[in-house]
Amino acid sequence: LFETYDDDNIFAKIIRGEIPSVKLYETDSVLSFMDAFPQSPGHCLVIHKQSTATNLFDVPTDALAEIITTTQKIAAAVKDSLKPDGIRIMQFNGAPAGQTVFHLHFHIIPMYTEQSIGK
Ligand code: 5GP
Repeated sequence: LFETYDDDNIFAKIIRGEIPSVKLYETDSVLSFMDAFPQSPGHCLVIHKQSTATNLFDVPTDALAEIITTTQKIAAAVKDSLKPDGIRIMQFNGAPAGQTVFHLHFHIIPMYTEQSIGK
């Protein structure tokens, strides 16, 4: 039902350095980088570099723990630097759910109220 992992997906290419990305944070196991088509200013992504999970159901819990603790860390940095009014964490499983890149990733999407924009 769900997509199988394909080494040619865009995020695998980003991990291998075959296509450029704006990196925020990187360790041996995780990577956070800016979304190329941001839904709001500061929209970024967190992925695991070794796990070949396409979605939440494939990922080993130790890799998931690394992804979610990194998501917390980067979201905290986004909160302190961009001072958004709220932060959405999103994660899609399967094309019918809106997933377009089949390498497990978490979105960090800062949200801004109309009142706060431009202040
Ligand atoms: P999904 O819908 O699969 O959860 O999200 C995939 C995300 O990857 C989208 O927000 C999309 O804008 C982003 N994206 C697609 N292609 C690229 C790319 O080449 N570089 C980066 N940094 N992000 C991308």
